[in-house]
Amino acid sequence: MNLFGMKTSHPEPHPQDDPRYPVRKSDAEWRAQLDAMQYQVARRAATERPFTGRFWDHWSEGAYRCIGCGQALFESEAKFDAGCGWPSWWKELEPGRIERLVDDSLGMRRVEVRCAQCGTHLGHVFDDGPEPSGERFCINSAAIDFSPKT
Ligand SMILES: [Zn+2]
Repeated sequence: MNLFGMKTSHPEPHPQDDPRYPVRKSDAEWRAQLDAMQYQVARRAATERPFTGRFWDHWSEGAYRCIGCGQALFESEAKFDAGCGWPSWWKELEPGRIERLVDDSLGMRRVEVRCAQCGTHLGHVFDDGPEPSGERFCINSAAIDFSPKT
C-alpha cells in the first residue's frame, strides 16, 4: 500500500525553529507576533478544532499566506470543501513553498506540511483529494492569512 503517496525524500522530523529555515525568529518574537492560537498551531503544531477557524467556509478570491512570514502558499482557485471543517486545497501555489515531513504522532503515519521559509506548521497533506492532484492539503486557519485579489 502506498501510504499517503509518501516519498522517501521526506526529511526526518525536525523542530519548527530548525536552522534550515531561511526565516528565523526567537520564541519571544514569535509570541509577540502571533496570537495565542496562532502560536500554538504555527510553532507548536497544535490543531484547531474543526469548523472553528476563519477560513474553512471562506470562498473569496485571493491568496492565502503563511501567518509566520507572509509567503503566499495557496490560491482560492485550488480551494475546495472537503467537509472536514478545515480549509482544504488540492494543490499548493507553487512547488517548493511547502515542506513535507513524516509525522508519526497520534499513533498514525501522516505527512505534516510546513512553510518552507519559516517552519510554520500548517497542517497535513493526504492522498484522498480531488483530481488532478489527488491530494488534500488540510490546513489550520490559524496558520494562514488571506489577501483578497486586487
Ligand atoms: Zn512562513
